[in-house]
Amino acid sequence: TKKLSARVSTLTPSTTLAITAKAKEMKESGIDVIGLGAGEPDYNTPENILTAAYNSMKEGKTKYTPSGGLPTLKDAVINKLKRDQDLTYSRKEVMIGIGAKHILYTLFQAILDPGDEVIVPSPYWVSYPEQIKLAGGVPVIVEATAESHFKVTAEQIRNAVTPKTKAVIINSPGNPTGMIYNREELSKIADVCQEADLWIVSDEIYEKLIYGEKRHVSIAQLSKDAKKRTFIINGVSKSHSMTGWRIGYIAGDEEVVGAMTNLASHSTSNPTTTSQYAALEAYNGPQEAVEEMRKDFESRLERIYPQLSAIPGFHVIKPQGAFYLLPEVSEAVKNTGYDNVDDFAEALLTEAKVAVIPGSGFGSPDTIRLSYATSIDLIEEAIKRIRKFVEDNW
Ligand code: PLP
Repeated sequence: TKKLSARVSTLTPSTTLAITAKAKEMKESGIDVIGLGAGEPDYNTPENILTAAYNSMKEGKTKYTPSGGLPTLKDAVINKLKRDQDLTYSRKEVMIGIGAKHILYTLFQAILDPGDEVIVPSPYWVSYPEQIKLAGGVPVIVEATAESHFKVTAEQIRNAVTPKTKAVIINSPGNPTGMIYNREELSKIADVCQEADLWIVSDEIYEKLIYGEKRHVSIAQLSKDAKKRTFIINGVSKSHSMTGWRIGYIAGDEEVVGAMTNLASHSTSNPTTTSQYAALEAYNGPQEAVEEMRKDFESRLERIYPQLSAIPGFHVIKPQGAFYLLPEVSEAVKNTGYDNVDDFAEALLTEAKVAVIPGSGFGSPDTIRLSYATSIDLIEEAIKRIRKFVEDNW
C-alpha cells in the first residue's frame, strides 16, 4: 500500500524555509553565512507585550479559550479595523487563528470544493498555491512582471475568470514584491469580482510596513459590495514583530467565518491562550514600537536600494512596503555562466556565503528575493559579497 495520501504527495516544501534551514546549518558548522532569506522582523517583541503575556499566565489565564478566539481579542481586532480602516465588523464576523497562514488554510478549506479555481497573482507568497491545492482547489496563476511593477491588472483577472472561479487573492503590500495596489487599481479589481461574483481574499499582513508617501488601502473599504465579498486577513506577526506567537485573524462573511470556527473547534481547539493575551496588548496597548520598526525598515531600504541596484545585471524596482527586495537578475545569471536563477542562488549560498531565495518558488523565475529584516551592517556586507561574486564571475 501507498504510504502517503495523494493530498500530501503533491506538496512542494516551502523554498523559503528550505534555504533558511540550509543557511542555518552552514552557520552552525562554523561557516560565515549571511541569511537574507528570513520572512520575519529581527526585533524582539515589544516589552509591554511580553509583560502582558507573563502577567496573564501568572493570573491563571492558561486554559482553553473559545475556538474562534477570546471575545476581548475579537473586540480589539474590531476596534483596530474601525480605527485603521473605518470598517465595522461584529464578533461573529471575526475569528482569531494560529497566524495568518493557518487562517488562510482554514479559509480555503471552508470555501473551496474540488475543482474550484482561485486566481493567484504572481509573484505570489509560496503558501497560497499549496493551501489551495490542499483544499482540492486549483490555483490559477496570473502573471505580473517587472514591467507592470509586479502588479496584475483588473483586465488580467477578468480574462482568467471561468465558471469555476471562486476567489481572487490580493496581497498588498505584497510578499515578495513589496508593491502596493492603489485605490484605483483595487477599485477596478473589486468591479471584476462583483461582475463575476467572487470572494476577495485580501492578505494585509504587511499593512504596517509601508514607506514613502504610500498609504494602505483595504479593498474592503472601497464599497459596500467589496466589503461583503472580502475577507481581510491580518495578524501581529509582522506589525508587532510577533512571528513566533502565531496569532492572526480574519474579518468577513459571518457564515464562512462561522464554518471556519467550527473547523477549528475540531482541529486546533483554540490559538495558544498566552499568545492571545499578548496580541490583546499588541492591539490595545501603545503603538509606538510599530512605527519605530517601520521607520527603521525604511531607513535600511533607503541605504541598500542604491547599493543593490548598482550590482551589474541586477534590475531592481524600489519596493513600497514589506521588507523584501526582488531584483530581476536574468542578465547577471547569464553573464556569470549559470543556467538559471536556482543555480545562481545556490552558488550565492555556497560561494558568496549569502542566502537569498530564488524566485522560482514565487512563480517569478527571473528574480531573487532578499529580505532586509536583518541588521544594516550584515545587509551591506551581504550586498558587497553578491557584487563581488557577480563581478568576479562576469
Ligand atoms: N501572508 C504573507 C504574504 C506572508 O508573507 C506571511 C508570512 O510570511 C503570512 C501571510 C503568514 O503570517 P503569519 O505569521 O501570521 O502566519
